[in-house]
This record gives sequence, C-alpha cells and structure tokens, in this order.
Amino acid sequence: MMKLYNTASRRKEDFNPQNPKQVTMYCCGPTVYNFAHIGNLRTYIFEDLLSRTIRLHYPLKHVMNVTDVGHLVSDADDGEDKMELGAAREGKSAWEIAKFYEQKFWQDYDALHCTRPTIISRATEHIGPMIELVKTLEEKGYTYRTSDGIYYDTSKFDRYDALVGHAHISGLQGGARVEMSDEKRNPTDFALWKFSPKDKKRQMEWDSPWGVGFPGWHIECSAMAMKYLGATLDIHCGGIDHVTIHHTNEIAQSEAATGQKYVNYWVHGEFLILRSGKMSKSGGTFVTLDVLKEKGYEPLAYRYLCLGAHYRTQLEFSYESMDSAAKSLKNLRALATQIGVAANRTAQETEKSRAWKDKLIAAMEDDLNAPKALAITWEAVRAGDLSAGEKWDYLQLADGILSLDLLVPVDSEQPTELPAEVQALADARAAARKAKNWAESDRLRDEIAKAGYTVKDTPQGQQISK
Ligand code: AMP
Ligand code: ZN
Repeated sequence: MMKLYNTASRRKEDFNPQNPKQVTMYCCGPTVYNFAHIGNLRTYIFEDLLSRTIRLHYPLKHVMNVTDVGHLVSDADDGEDKMELGAAREGKSAWEIAKFYEQKFWQDYDALHCTRPTIISRATEHIGPMIELVKTLEEKGYTYRTSDGIYYDTSKFDRYDALVGHAHISGLQGGARVEMSDEKRNPTDFALWKFSPKDKKRQMEWDSPWGVGFPGWHIECSAMAMKYLGATLDIHCGGIDHVTIHHTNEIAQSEAATGQKYVNYWVHGEFLILRSGKMSKSGGTFVTLDVLKEKGYEPLAYRYLCLGAHYRTQLEFSYESMDSAAKSLKNLRALATQIGVAANRTAQETEKSRAWKDKLIAAMEDDLNAPKALAITWEAVRAGDLSAGEKWDYLQLADGILSLDLLVPVDSEQPTELPAEVQALADARAAARKAKNWAESDRLRDEIAKAGYTVKDTPQGQQISK
C-alpha cells in the first residue's frame, strides 16, 4: 500500500484512489516567461518519481498546465504580468516569449527523464472554462468588482485556512509585501479576472462578461484541473511555496463552485536552496540546466543529486555535491555495465531478485523514499549472494523508476580525462562528423592516433582510449 504525506492532514496517509482504473493527478506547471531554474526542475523530478511509482500499480492521468498568461510578478495580484514583462525585456511579443520558453522547458524536462504528462494544458487555450468558473462563483455570490477586476471574497468561504492552518492565515498581513489595493475587502482576497489597463493595450487579452482583460493565475489551475480530471482530484502537486496562496486559493475557488472536495492528497516538494539562500531570478543566483551542462555535467547527474534527498527536505545545491553525484552515477553505471556483460544482458527473475525489487518498491511507496531506493540499488548491485542475471533483473525495475540510464553500457576502458590537446582534437572531430566532413574527421583520427589514442565510433558518440 502506497503512503503519501498529505499537506492537508500533515501526516502520511494510505493512498486510496477514487477509481483504481485511473488515478488522477494535477501538477502546477511552469510560468513560461524565463528559463526554468534547477529549483523548479527539482519539483518536476519529484513529481516524476511520484508518477512512476503510481504507475507501478495504476493507470495514471497526469495533467500539467503551462502558465502562458496571467501570473503577476507578485502572487498577491499586484505588479505586471510576467509574460508581458518578459516580452518587454527581450523585445519580442508575449506569444513569442511563451512559445520559446515553453519549448525550452520541455527540453530540460525530457533531458531529466521526467515523464511527459498525459495532458498539457496551456492557459491561453482555456480562457472559456476559466470565464465559466468565474461566472459560477459570481452566481453563488463569492465575487465582487473593483476598478481593476473581479475579486474572490475569501471571507465567504469558511474553510479558507484548511490547507495552511488558522494561525498562518490570520497572521497574514495584507499589504505586508506589496501595497494592498484599497478596494480589496480582505487581505487574502484575490483576482479572478483582471481588466486590461484603460490607457494601454495588452498583447494578451480577451473579452469577458465583465470587460476585456485576462484571467487571474489561480483560476487557471482550478479551471483546467477540473475540466480534465473532474471536481475531485486524487492528487495535486507543486512546490511548497504554493501552499499558502496558490493552492489555498485553488481550493477556495473550486470547492465554492462545485460544493465538493477538490483534492484528496496534496503533495508538496521542498525547495532547492543555495548556500547563500533562496534561488532567485533577480539576485543573480539563477542556475539553469544549461549552466550545468556548460560546466560539463550531464542532466542525469542532477537527477541523481535530487534523488539523493527526500522530496520533503530542503536540498542545498553546491558544485561539490554535483561533482559527487556525477561521480556516483558514473560508478553505478560502470557496475551496471559489468553486470550486463556478465549476465549477457539477460534478466533472471528469482525469489531473491523479487525480494530486492520488493524492497525498492516498498521504499518508493513509503512517501517516495528515493534516497533509500538509491541505497538499496547500491546494495543490490554489490550483493554477494545475487547472480549477475538476478542483478540485471533488479536493474530493469530500478532503472524504470530511478531512470538514470543504468542499462546503457559504458565503455569502462575510456580514460576519465583526456589530455587537453587530445580532447581538443576529439571535439574538433565530433564537430567535423556533425558537419559530415568525413575527410576532416579521418585526418583528425590520424592526429589522435599520433598522440597515442584510438578512436571508436559508437551509437553514443566517439570513444577514445589509449
Ligand atoms: P514557476 O514556474 O515559478 O511557477 O514554478 C514552477 C514550480 O517550481 C512550482 O511547482 C514551484 O513551486 C516550484 N519551485 C519554485 N522555486 C523552487 C525551488 N527553489 N525549489 C524547488 N521548487 C521550486
Ligand atoms: Zn497551479
């Protein structure tokens, strides 16, 4: 039985889906006005572990939104729309910005082996259902109008503090972070629909029964989640920062509209932090997957690093820990390659291999204990009483969850570091081959040979050994 920590109850609970034939899960997706940082990506990696663990037992319908409009700079409905801001910054249209950063997001997502959602829903393609939801809330008396939009009156929803607890909400100071609009009735009220400014035409705006404008960020998730998954979802995920405002507001909107419980299990991932504090886009402490790649790390080394920390603990990022993750991954793959060779890549399922697989599954089902799953995997590949075939059997399952390319053979003869001049020749040869310049490629092979190295071309690229 799978157990998940539910933010709503603050304890680990047995996971019971409403319909075992289809588990429903909604994950808050990226706001596509800039690159995702590796903190954001940590959250998608934890959600992928959850998706892979659920799918060991149940078919899963996984929905993720792409926020391509309406996320204001402050979560409290003030400041500019992040998309329009991105457009101004880069001299492109808001639509171009959204398209560019969304594409980039999926590249990173795939590179980290995160499983694609069943449905990807863009906010700009679901304005209709958002307007319908606001209309329902209006009919039920939860909304009011100000000069800049239609707002949700949080005092009308008596379970508003359900997710975070009373102490937190009552301590929330309106205007503590930003100037609170005079027209807001309660500090926690939030915009469902914002009007376009009278003096400026927005790039992204739509007609509505209340006037031309754009949806609030919170309504996007409620409308899209319920459109695809129904009034009650099994699981809703996101980063821990979303608990107090975004998810609290999603509950208020959805439950007021349907009269039903919105989410059975709220699952939140803790933050990736830097030694200097929070990862932020403004403070120059913004690390992307591309930055890691430029420094020579492969994306899966970052996945390995994230797997080493439980998703509900903060993870402090450092290049020392990246080095050690990259090294461990390399060693684990080398061991797996040896096992594959010894087993002739043939899995042998026995009672013993099943027992190890069960241990791995039990760790993942215990609120996604990935660090334990990694430790079990290290033990399994080194276990003296398992044959190579049994280990290979274990690895099939393990890599289906951990997804670290453990089954891809690595050339263990390859020296870890080539001398700089040989590396330069190798890079030039790789470029020549990419450009289909075979003559140059052959010339460089001879150069490399003169330096005492041989080149082998494999599906994974050229391998150079002494
Ligand atoms: P955003 O694109 O800013 O809407 O965020 C995408 C996801 O990343 C959300 O689920 C956030 O909660 C999450 N997130 C933001 N910052 C971090 C961080 N430093 N560590 C882990 N997750 C984060
Ligand atoms: Zn959301």
